[in-house]
Amino acid sequence: MALIHLENVRHSYRINPRSEDDNDWALRGLDMKWADGGAYALLGPSGCGKTTLLNLISGLLQPTEGRVYFDERDVTNLDPGARNIAQVFQFPVVYDTMSVFDNLAFPLRNRGVGESEVRKRVHEIAALLDLQDRLPSRASGLTADGKQKISLGRGLVRSDVAAILFDEPLTVIDPHLKWRLRSKLKELHQRLGVTMIYVTHDQTEALTFADQVVVMIDGQVVQAGTPVDLFERPHHTFVGHFIGSPGMNLMPCEVDTAGVARVAGQPITTALGPQRVAQGKRTEIGVRPEFVRFTSSDGLPVRIERISDAGRHRIVDARFGEQLIKVLVGEDTEVPTQTGHIEFDAAHTQLYADGWVVEGS
Ligand code: ATP
Repeated sequence: MALIHLENVRHSYRINPRSEDDNDWALRGLDMKWADGGAYALLGPSGCGKTTLLNLISGLLQPTEGRVYFDERDVTNLDPGARNIAQVFQFPVVYDTMSVFDNLAFPLRNRGVGESEVRKRVHEIAALLDLQDRLPSRASGLTADGKQKISLGRGLVRSDVAAILFDEPLTVIDPHLKWRLRSKLKELHQRLGVTMIYVTHDQTEALTFADQVVVMIDGQVVQAGTPVDLFERPHHTFVGHFIGSPGMNLMPCEVDTAGVARVAGQPITTALGPQRVAQGKRTEIGVRPEFVRFTSSDGLPVRIERISDAGRHRIVDARFGEQLIKVLVGEDTEVPTQTGHIEFDAAHTQLYADGWVVEGS
C-alpha cells in the first residue's frame, strides 16, 4: 500500500496541445495526494476526466505533464504491472473457459503465490462476495452480475496491492444487487484497509462508499472532501447543485459597495457576512433546501407553487419574484397554502462568484 501523489499532472490526448487552451486538456491540472488506506470516490458527469485520472494512477496512461509518486517512488514511467495496482472495469473481465475458482486465483498465481495461500485467499474473497457455491462452475455459465462479481473478486484477491481502482463497477449490476455490493465494498474496505478509488457519476454511490469524495468537472477537481463538507460548504455551485436531492438553490444576486448581497433587492445574510467581489463577476447566493425555513412574517415573501412528498420530508416550491426556491420541510411542519415568508440559515448561506465560493479576505 502507498500514499499516491499526482504532482502537477496534466493530460491531453492531442499530439501538440496548446498550453493555454483548456479545450486541449482532458485533465487540466491537478496536484493531489491520496492517503494510504483511504476510500475515495471520483464523482462527476460523463466526459469530465474521471477515467483519465484513474488510468494515470494505474499506469494505463502516462501524463503529458507532471509526475506520479507512490510514497517516495517516482512511478510516472512504470507500466501497470510494475505499479502493483488492481483495477476493476465497468464491464466484466473474465476468462469464460476457466472455473470461478481459477478466475479468482489468476492474479495470485500470476505473481507466483503458493497454492495453499491461493486457496485461502480465494475462499476468503468468494465468501465475501457470496460466490462459494460457484467456485467449481465454469465462469461462462454466470449472469452478467455474477461475472462482474468475479471481476470485483479478482481486484480484491491480492493483499499486496498499492491500491484498487474501480471504474463504474456496478453499471451492469441489477439495481437490487447494486445496493448490496456497494455496502459490501464499503465493508471490504474497512476489513482490508487498502486504498480504494471508486469512479462513478452517481452521487448515492459516491456518498455511501467514500470517506473522501473528489468532485470533477471539465477536467478539473472542484472539491475534495468528506460527504459532510460537500453538503455543508460546496466550494463550487456545481457541487451544490450536483450533490443533494434536490440540489442547492442558486439565486443570481447583486453585491453592493458595502459587500452586502441582494437577491431582487432584498439583503441576504451569508455565512461570512459582507464580502467584496471584483467587478464583472457573476454572483449568486447558494443555500440548500434543508437550510430554508418558513417564518411567520419576516423574510422573503413567497408564493407557494407546489408541495411534493419525498418520504419523511416534503419539498415545497416557493416562488420569490422570478426565482424558484426549494424548501425541505419535515412531515409535521406547517406550510402556508398560498403565500408566506421564508428565511435562510445564514451559517449555511454562501456567496459565489463565477461559480466559486467567496472565501473571505
Ligand atoms: P465517462 O463517465 O463517460 O466515462 P469520464 O469522466 O471518465 O467520462 P474520460 O473518459 O476521462 O471522462 O474523458 C475525458 C475527456 O477526454 C473527454 O472529453 C473524452 O472525450 C476525452 N478522451 C477520453 N479518452 C480519449 C482518447 N482515448 N482519445 C481522445 N480523447 C479521449
